[in-house]
Amino acid sequence: MAGEPQADCLFCKIVAGDVPATIVRETETTVAFRDINPQAPTHVLVIPKEHHRDAATLAAEAPQAAADVLREAREVAVHDGVEATGYRVVFNTGSGAGQTVFHAHAHVLGGRGLNWPPG
Ligand code: 5GP
Ligand code: ZN
Repeated sequence: MAGEPQADCLFCKIVAGDVPATIVRETETTVAFRDINPQAPTHVLVIPKEHHRDAATLAAEAPQAAADVLREAREVAVHDGVEATGYRVVFNTGSGAGQTVFHAHAHVLGGRGLNWPPG
């Protein structure tokens, strides 16, 4: 069923506490934790606790959780002191765009200059 935990999903395991992560913030519906391979001084992943394969699917299947993820992205930026200078929220969607973990997640990047377009 949509949203159910998947036994083979790394981020479901982080939600369950079965894989350790450096957690920045947690709410009833979301978890935010530091990326294991940071690409910026602030590089935090915000995920819904429910399993959905990507952000677009999350928005279709659980719009409130998608809104919660976006709101939490800002809270992470505030937490890390990068909200005022600017930060980037990225949803890689599909393997051709670099998605490697198929549990919806927002990358929150900040703390350095971020060029646009990203390349
Ligand atoms: P994607 O490439 O799917 O958009 O992003 C997946 C992200 O998860 C990558 O930036 C990768 O570094 C991160 N990641 C992969 N495995 C782990 C892990 O075990 N722990 C944490 N904290 N991040 C991970
Ligand atoms: Zn999952």
